[in-house]
Amino acid sequence: MKALKFNQVWNVQIQQVEPLHCIESDDVVVDIAVCGICGTDIGIITGSYPVAVPGTTLGHETTGVVTQVGSHVTRFQIGDRVVINPTYSCGHCRMCQTGNPNHCEKKLGTEAGVSYDGAFAEQYLAKESSLIKLDDHVSMEAASLTEPLSCTLTGVDKLGITHTNIRAVVAGAGPMGMLYLWALHERGVKAFIIEKNPSRVQFAINNLPAECRLYTDFDEALTQEYGDKSALIDLCVDTTGQLTEYVFDHLAAGGKLLNVALKDKHANLDILKIADKSLSVIGSIDSLNNSFERAYAMIRDGVIPAERLISQIFDFEDYQQAFLTVGCDIAAKAQVPLSTPNCKILIRLADFK
Ligand SMILES: [Zn+2]
Ligand SMILES: [Zn+2]
Repeated sequence: MKALKFNQVWNVQIQQVEPLHCIESDDVVVDIAVCGICGTDIGIITGSYPVAVPGTTLGHETTGVVTQVGSHVTRFQIGDRVVINPTYSCGHCRMCQTGNPNHCEKKLGTEAGVSYDGAFAEQYLAKESSLIKLDDHVSMEAASLTEPLSCTLTGVDKLGITHTNIRAVVAGAGPMGMLYLWALHERGVKAFIIEKNPSRVQFAINNLPAECRLYTDFDEALTQEYGDKSALIDLCVDTTGQLTEYVFDHLAAGGKLLNVALKDKHANLDILKIADKSLSVIGSIDSLNNSFERAYAMIRDGVIPAERLISQIFDFEDYQQAFLTVGCDIAAKAQVPLSTPNCKILIRLADFK
């Protein structure tokens, strides 16, 4: 079967590898339908997020069809359409036992698309416990956003939102920013979103939740929304990692800054203000407290319009074009500006309905 292998920074290619088989009794082999491109994949390829093990198949936002089941699998049959939770946790290590399974100490070697062969491939070897069966009306494409939405719900949970009448902003209108905007909206918080990149703006502007506005400049947004560019905000989700100091200085007392950008960047923050203004600076990654199951239910029920956030779908052999769309020019080994309106990009491995 074919798989997109990460060999080293800027060295990724489709390779022919051995077909997969169930090994343990709770294994399930899934033939992949679609798999989304994530910022993690881009960081791995470009070297800015050096976490992946060379030789690993990339891809972790994925759906497909069950084609083999282990001897003790009871919940799935051949032909079932499924979404795959790519994040493994052992349940036994200190992190798992202290309520942080998203930081499981066994993750090295088990994280799909990073240290365990992922789903930019014709087949994926899953555990029964990591699968959810898709309802008939849910498309493979929509359900592939379950994983990024799950990460989003984990972050929203950590914000501990107790008021809806707050000043909230999401920075960055890529897939994560848009999912945060929609997830906050679902919790009753009408945030505005900041995005400077014209390609992101062009896509996002037509796919905002009701009563949410998009701005290209933070000062302009504060002026338009609250009449004063020095207005203070209660909550900011920063998906860019570029605005920590700016946002920190614009937080109202009790304000919260959630950073979800995996960027190697440092910021100077005034510790005194954290206590004196009761501020919260929060980080979040991956899935927690059944966020994966909750994310699937929200997509299934149309609470989050996942399909609207998919801007392009590419065939597997056109993977270089797919990555180029998100500014990752594999052939030239360089990051390039975005040139087409885009948000979530999917790669289609097989034409399963
Ligand atoms: Zn991801
Ligand atoms: Zn663990």
